[in-house]
Amino acid sequence: MPFWNQKKDEKIYSKYEFKEVLGTGAFSEVTLAEEKETKTMYAVKCIDKKSIRGKEESLQNEISVLRRLKHKNIVQLVEVYDEKCTVYLVMELVTGGELFDRIVQKGSYTEKDASDLIKQVLEAVDFMHEQGVVHRDLKPENLLYYSNSEDSKIMISDFGLSKVEGSGSMDTACGTPGYVAPEVLRRKPYGKEVDVWSIGVIAYILLCGYPPFYDENDAELFRQIMAAKYEFDSPYWDEISDSAKDFISHLICLDRKYRYDCQQALQHPWISGNTALDKDIH
Ligand code: ADP
Ligand code: MG
Repeated sequence: MPFWNQKKDEKIYSKYEFKEVLGTGAFSEVTLAEEKETKTMYAVKCIDKKSIRGKEESLQNEISVLRRLKHKNIVQLVEVYDEKCTVYLVMELVTGGELFDRIVQKGSYTEKDASDLIKQVLEAVDFMHEQGVVHRDLKPENLLYYSNSEDSKIMISDFGLSKVEGSGSMDTACGTPGYVAPEVLRRKPYGKEVDVWSIGVIAYILLCGYPPFYDENDAELFRQIMAAKYEFDSPYWDEISDSAKDFISHLICLDRKYRYDCQQALQHPWISGNTALDKDIH
């Protein structure tokens, strides 16, 4: 049967009208779709079953995880269609674009703005951790603004790699180099602490515009990460508050015993107090 006829037969097409493609990932395409009856727009992640052969477990994880997570800063999974060749995840639509695109466009940007963003991410991730879920792939591309309004909230998306704690070993090396914690690279068993590390890396970039760990050579990059070798370089960090640096030092912290958990991070004065500066930083 030709591909297009196969598609027409699928149940999802009777309820949703597919519009333009919003984004493409490694195993999937995300498409805008209108629910015919209500005229409500959704984002539908279309996953070709052929391309995930052998990785079905990871997809089932994403589905079961998303179903359980209802939080104002987490993209909500609405329903799932498991058709012959494709799995469709109907998700809440977010329209504000990726985190860094917005910041680059924005004329002014302060420590307070960064602190507000990181607070929302910490609240969502703290909620996930309470549910026994570790995201494992927190990075700027997976942080999307809910809307185009200036004060839009930020949303965590893309749980393709997340895994429910306790449902198996969590020692698969995954995530994106640059954002992953040392214990992931060492292939040691790991847990929630890896997300806090990644949030630290994101906070670092939000404040200075470049990543704490970088090398064109992956082996060298891994070496830097495993030694937690990063600096608050002059002159880029000269104007940044000591409180911000103290905060980051507790997140990008090699020793997992000393690394903050989300609760501790939320209580740091740079997040919960008023030590984040209101001065423009770029
Ligand atoms: P992958 O696992 O393949 O990386 P993602 O879930 O990250 O897939 O989605 C790929 C892209 O699709 C995103 O970078 C984003 O541009 C777009 N996208 C994903 N989810 C949504 C959504 N809920 N609303 C709007 N756009 C989305
Ligand atoms: Mg993604």
